Amino acid sequence: MRRFLWFFLAFTFAAAFQRRPVTDEMVREVDRSAILIDTHNDVTSRTVERDAFASNIERDAFASNSAGFDIGAASPTGHTDLPRLRAGGVGAVFFAVYVAASYARDHTAAHRALDMIDTVRHDIVARHAKDFVLAENAAEIEAAHREGKIAALMGIEGGHAIEDDPRLLRDFYALGVRYMTLTHANTNDWADSSGDISDRSVKHHNGLTGLGKQIVLEMNRLGMMVDISHVADKTFWDVIAVSQAPPIASHSSCRALANVPRNMTDDMIVALAKKGGVIQINFNCDFLSQKSADSVAPLTLRMNGLAREFRDNPAKLKLETERLHAEMKQRQVPATLADVVAHIDHVVKIAGIGAVGIGSDFDGVECTPVGLEDVSKFPNLTRALLEKGYSPDDIRKIYGGNTLRLMRAVERLRQM
Ligand SMILES: [Zn+2]
Repeated sequence: MRRFLWFFLAFTFAAAFQRRPVTDEMVREVDRSAILIDTHNDVTSRTVERDAFASNIERDAFASNSAGFDIGAASPTGHTDLPRLRAGGVGAVFFAVYVAASYARDHTAAHRALDMIDTVRHDIVARHAKDFVLAENAAEIEAAHREGKIAALMGIEGGHAIEDDPRLLRDFYALGVRYMTLTHANTNDWADSSGDISDRSVKHHNGLTGLGKQIVLEMNRLGMMVDISHVADKTFWDVIAVSQAPPIASHSSCRALANVPRNMTDDMIVALAKKGGVIQINFNCDFLSQKSADSVAPLTLRMNGLAREFRDNPAKLKLETERLHAEMKQRQVPATLADVVAHIDHVVKIAGIGAVGIGSDFDGVECTPVGLEDVSKFPNLTRALLEKGYSPDDIRKIYGGNTLRLMRAVERLRQM
């Protein structure tokens, strides 16, 4: 018995030391060969900003050229700019065409979506055409990568953007939108959201309504990915039952590791994977680490109710949002790079290497993990995954291969 123990210890030590050290060159080699596709980035909320004179020059199409955040210049703030995207080896970005819940009235939602689409096409791609190219399918992402450019794609965040009109859905597809997150944190006229599911003052539908199901089928027919991040669990299961194409979770993590409604349960992840879908791990500290979520739980709850509380007072809403953000920043225990690896590991364990991808939510969240603070830090993740024992081939799948496979499956089902 003693001899057995000795052999066991010797073997364990040998195995521990046998793992090759990960060199910078190995990291670079993986980053060069992978196409890193980040399926959710919110820098568009910055580039769409107008300066103080915007209201006076609204009709001057050229005036907006110089207004707002310029993604091309290195910035000390935020998570995303061109130099940092290059440093991070990012190959493709789905820019969020984010439409806040406050636009879900008076026919302002589609207008906002069009503004956000324009900021991708005009402020990001046209303005920096040497570095970005608009991509509308998997082949165009690969072509951009071959040319050394960053592929820019678009996903609508918040189904209220189509104002319940399938014609607008088709218009948005024609402008290049390739996924739509069925809800944001607000339940809309045809789909329940996870963001307000416990709020009894909100009229819920028990998942997708008849119109919601028709919209999912129309997205299938168009070849637009159905994004189930943000939706209520019942909405997710309705999508699994109705959708003919594999859905995407563009920016969600695992509820088994951080118990928040925005994350997916193991059952959901397995069902998504069985349909050929991919869960793209979100880097928001709250979604990665229970400790981090708990450290700001009361503030998060209050934040979620703000839009409704100050529905009729946008100035107060802005002020209170900023105050809460500042308080959260002080109190929040950050997540770490190791947490991101743990979420990837968890998905691989329960659903396989083909089920996981990256949907950072950079510039859409306040707190990012230590070691993965912004888009320039992706090589740290590459190194951590290599150290964990993932092969270069595994990492190429996680970074982009799985998303490309999913996009091709959706494109094949297009009936136009
Ligand atoms: Zn989101």
